[in-house]
Amino acid sequence: MKISMVSEHASPLAALGGVDAGGQNVHVAALSSSLASRGHQVTVYTRRDDPDLPAKVQVAPGLSVVHVDAGPARHIPKDELLPFMGELADGICRDWADSVPDVVHAHFWMSGLAAIQASRRAGAAEPVAVVQTFHALGSVKRRHQGSADTSPPARAWLEPWVGRTADWVIATCPDEVFELKALGIGRSRISIAPCGVDLNLFPGTGEPESKARTHRILSVGRLVPRKGVDLVIQALPILAEAGFDDVELLIVGGSGDALNLEEDPEAQRLRALTKELGVEDKVTMRGQVPRDAMPGIFRSADAVVCAPWYEPFGIVPLEAMACGVPVVAAAVGGLRETVVDQKTGLHVPPRDPEAIADAVARLLGDPALRAEMGRAGNRRARSRYSWDRIAADTEKAYRSVLAAGLSRQAGEGLAEPLEGTAL
Ligand code: UDP
Repeated sequence: MKISMVSEHASPLAALGGVDAGGQNVHVAALSSSLASRGHQVTVYTRRDDPDLPAKVQVAPGLSVVHVDAGPARHIPKDELLPFMGELADGICRDWADSVPDVVHAHFWMSGLAAIQASRRAGAAEPVAVVQTFHALGSVKRRHQGSADTSPPARAWLEPWVGRTADWVIATCPDEVFELKALGIGRSRISIAPCGVDLNLFPGTGEPESKARTHRILSVGRLVPRKGVDLVIQALPILAEAGFDDVELLIVGGSGDALNLEEDPEAQRLRALTKELGVEDKVTMRGQVPRDAMPGIFRSADAVVCAPWYEPFGIVPLEAMACGVPVVAAAVGGLRETVVDQKTGLHVPPRDPEAIADAVARLLGDPALRAEMGRAGNRRARSRYSWDRIAADTEKAYRSVLAAGLSRQAGEGLAEPLEGTAL
């Protein structure tokens, strides 16, 4: 198949850990590369956010990235990108001038707008089939962030429109299916393909980075308040009272490296909190870490803590599991699915530092339990979350959509065209 991916703000080539560069970038990069390895021709369209980026980068055989001029060629927060989606669609159409793809797969709601426009304007006999993955939903974000949500107000009606207009929607976990149905998206057009983990980059064995204290707990991700890193910091004094005093919390992520975190407002807020709680000597903020350094960091941890208020999916726990490290995870969104409570880690209620401290203390105090959960996590990551398996599930969704399009052209109607692959 000839496949176009659209990922307006999240380039597969970007450095990770900044406010708008995380799981979606990893997802688009890994899924595209796995689809290319399966023999498909994949082109990823993303917005040019730097004037020096080349127009097109051939990443691997069958996989290229096209930087489309859509708005100023500099970083713009994703919540301010809506006005440029028409230009993104124009750029995609220009690149499709020679031959249109079989399917266009959009990532995030705004990419869906560009993909749907491009699909209709491409000049083919039929619109190009549009598959949508949302990665995050505005309805969920508003519920948790209220007035702090900086999404454009139009997201409230444009996002459901994208879901209802796309030919197919891929959810990453059962929780998301529930949310999509609440937006009025028909269940028969939704399938699930989770995010995956790069098992070559994160193998079950390897060297850990050395650690300075007896125990290390780890938090990895974009430094934004909803990731709940402050809750993990608040757990440190509780852990000390429980007898676990020689514990380091390593925080990975943020805009820039450790030396430049002064410009990151969330890093500053977290620093102030460590001072307020008298735990600054226990907390290390590493800033953005390149991909190839992540496995050694995961392996150095006795436990990885993921304490978000909500989480559409969460690739970090999968990476920890692949590295054989137990995960303490807030029981929200995709984490309820990936982390199996009492088997590959421990679930805790969201926004609960005491529960985090209790769960971490249980793991730190029981090396055998940590090892057993680590092994179970590695088995689960390998058996269910390889990108090749996710690419196969995604390919199945593409084929269903294309088959439905063919039967539509043959006048067979659309009554139950996708039966069999529906949930
Ligand atoms: N990550 C990284 N370096 C960093 C911070 C994060 O490589 O400094 C990666 C992390 O390993 C994971 C991704 O960014 O692969 C974050 O994805 P996740 O789905 O957990 O969170 P999201 O960004 O989607 O909220």
